[in-house]
Amino acid sequence: MKRLLVLTGILMLASLAGGYAFFARAPVYRVAGPSMAPALLGPHYNVTCPTCGHDFPIDATRGPVPTATCDDCGAIAPVKTDDIRAGDALETITGEIERFDLVMFPDPDDPLQRVVKRVVGLPGETIACRDGDLWIDGERYQKRWKELSRVMIPVYQVADNLASDPRISITADGWIQYHHQVHSQGIQITGAAPPLDDYPYNQGLPGKLHPLNELICTFVRTPDGPMEVVFGFEQNDFLLRDDPPGGRTICYLKGDEIQPLRVSQSADSNDLPRQESAVVHACVCDQLLQLGTGDRGGGVTVPYQLQPGNCTALPLRIHPGKGKIESLKIFRDIRYADFPETKIPTDAYFVLGDNVPASRDSRHFGVIAAKNARRMDPASKPD
Ligand SMILES: [Zn+2]
Repeated sequence: MKRLLVLTGILMLASLAGGYAFFARAPVYRVAGPSMAPALLGPHYNVTCPTCGHDFPIDATRGPVPTATCDDCGAIAPVKTDDIRAGDALETITGEIERFDLVMFPDPDDPLQRVVKRVVGLPGETIACRDGDLWIDGERYQKRWKELSRVMIPVYQVADNLASDPRISITADGWIQYHHQVHSQGIQITGAAPPLDDYPYNQGLPGKLHPLNELICTFVRTPDGPMEVVFGFEQNDFLLRDDPPGGRTICYLKGDEIQPLRVSQSADSNDLPRQESAVVHACVCDQLLQLGTGDRGGGVTVPYQLQPGNCTALPLRIHPGKGKIESLKIFRDIRYADFPETKIPTDAYFVLGDNVPASRDSRHFGVIAAKNARRMDPASKPD
């Protein structure tokens, strides 16, 4: 039983289990392990921090724990171990398997079990991981926003009031500056420090932690007046402006003189809605700076090399211009564990788990046969 629980696999669900009843629908599977957290949760406890009110899930497959460390404020929170939640539900979907899709396949070490992982290497490619980044066919793979948004890991969310949060400072000239702060068990806040590739879901699973500077911020801009948001990464500023005459998004690289990088006027542009709030994203990951609005990505992408090892503070500043910023969220890029160059056969995939320290995947059991892979998606709730 213990082995079954620690497997990073998923169990097939009888059609009535878990409150899901389907007729003429695809079978539903339920995640049974921690290897894909936080994107997919296995059996877990929901913990509510008594100090800050933050709700967060922790892995329940390693046995009950009396307390957990709040990943928002660092306080110790009690765990109600009699309230165990089922793993997330998944169902198969049709369509060609693309990079970063979820796939289910028989566990190479125990074919009676099935496991779910994320495809990172496609048939025929040569894949490696160096310094946490994927390298495909000899080049660093640069995830575009659509891909990045699938694998990014939450670091921090500002609930309501930016001004009252100790991690936010607002300068006299209106810059919102985010200072990440690391907390260790029972100690609420240490000084400003870079985020680590930590998974609060694992609650102390051993593993070397790395400081990170590949970060993503998203926020909602309100439609009060023309939008102008400036992001500062290290010494450079980038400007995202809602251009009133055309209602278009214009992104600038702000240097000695402002240079427009791209004016989004094509069919796939991501125009800012004039009457609605828009989600804005800005990130520097995989040596690529991306700015944009909405879920469709686009916006602007610029090659951008962060100074290696510059993790002493988050290089992120936001100037809201005439608009207002709400729901600021900070994420980090996924940091895979390094592995050597591997040639993927033309009939196989290379798969990894998002929860790197808790995942057994192609780093351990090699590639998986493409014919055995089923494309998966979180199950939709029955109507
Ligand atoms: Zn807390």
